[in-house]
Amino acid sequence: MKKKIQTVTGEILCDKIKGTMVHEHIVMDLSHVRGENTSILGDQETLPGIVEELKSLKELGVNTIVELTNIGMGRGPKLLKKLSEENEFYIIVGTGYYKEGYYPPEIDELSIEELEEKLTKEVLDGIENTCIKAGIYGEIGSSYNLMTAREEKVFRAVAKSHKVTGAPISTHCELGTMGLEQRKIFDKEGIPPEKVSFGHQDLNENIHEQIELLKWGAFIQFDTIGKTRYRSDEARMLNLLELIDRGFENQIMLSCDISRKTYLQKFGGHGYVYLYSSFLKGLKDQGVSDDIIEKLTIKNPCRFLSFREEE
Ligand SMILES: [Zn+2]
Repeated sequence: MKKKIQTVTGEILCDKIKGTMVHEHIVMDLSHVRGENTSILGDQETLPGIVEELKSLKELGVNTIVELTNIGMGRGPKLLKKLSEENEFYIIVGTGYYKEGYYPPEIDELSIEELEEKLTKEVLDGIENTCIKAGIYGEIGSSYNLMTAREEKVFRAVAKSHKVTGAPISTHCELGTMGLEQRKIFDKEGIPPEKVSFGHQDLNENIHEQIELLKWGAFIQFDTIGKTRYRSDEARMLNLLELIDRGFENQIMLSCDISRKTYLQKFGGHGYVYLYSSFLKGLKDQGVSDDIIEKLTIKNPCRFLSFREEE
């Protein structure tokens, strides 16, 4: 039986998706936590530049974006639906909670079971009072070299909700750390590895740990491509080539994680387009085949994101 991907405009079969970005933010507002206004996306100031980039992405063969802004991060399901319809883009919106420091009060007020119920409702019925359904849990995160008690509570609520819905789970590993600890929780809860993707692994300079996550059977994401403040793209590429050489091309997915106004092209940044306009060309120059690039950008996201049973 074929399974479907759940987008903000409804369910689609895998063969509809082309180039995909698996970890992005389009509508987000973290200013209440960070106390500055560069972490706002999708407002009047940034929206025209974002729409321009969506058009450029289309020209580069991209038509699907996984939007991992979730509860407490200024998520905007209605605006995402509008952008999806107006720009003919498939957008998958996330549910869940980000990480310590960004949690709304309900993390303490509700039990694990109550959190689970809330997340399940967002996947099965719709977010808040809309009929827009979440199609993924994410990004759910841990702190730098640490998983706090609240973070563990969120991971367990998500795992329990996953058992009801089957929706994929995408994580935030702060600067690439704590993947193995995240895995421990999923393992204990009996989550199938192929429905888990560990985020920000391109910032994890421990290739043995990356391989351990891959051997478990999960996906890993090279999803901060272009953020050279954290790691050079040359180093990212060498890391990626090594994993491809070792035969893991069926379990890796790519993205840029645009999370600040200043990363947009219009504000002088590398933009969402950078992955497709530049990084992939670099991969090809290194001898990576079109077939493997299709796996990294289309086929792997297809398998990871599909979960709704066809009716
Ligand atoms: Zn993240």
